[in-house]
Amino acid sequence: MTGRRIGHLPARPTWDCLACGRLWPCLTAREDLWDEYARVPTALCMYLAACFMECCADQPAVSAERLYLRFLGWVQLRRPARPPDPDWLPARPH
Ligand SMILES: [Zn+2]
Repeated sequence: MTGRRIGHLPARPTWDCLACGRLWPCLTAREDLWDEYARVPTALCMYLAACFMECCADQPAVSAERLYLRFLGWVQLRRPARPPDPDWLPARPH
């Protein structure tokens, strides 16, 4: 079989997965997103929040609570073992 692998990406305005047809983010999409954003989980939340807002606009008949749980309910941010130093700042570029 030839052809490119279809990514588990959302189709708008249905927000069904292009690859498997399930509600996006499907399990594979969640795993892919988790891998992609492993080092920046806050960015994952921001991305999913943007998708959530766009889906709310695309599907006004679906409750926001239901869409929130679908897009953001599965993400778990963990408290760091050691809280970051409040005086810490990223290094400035030279
Ligand atoms: Zn999928």
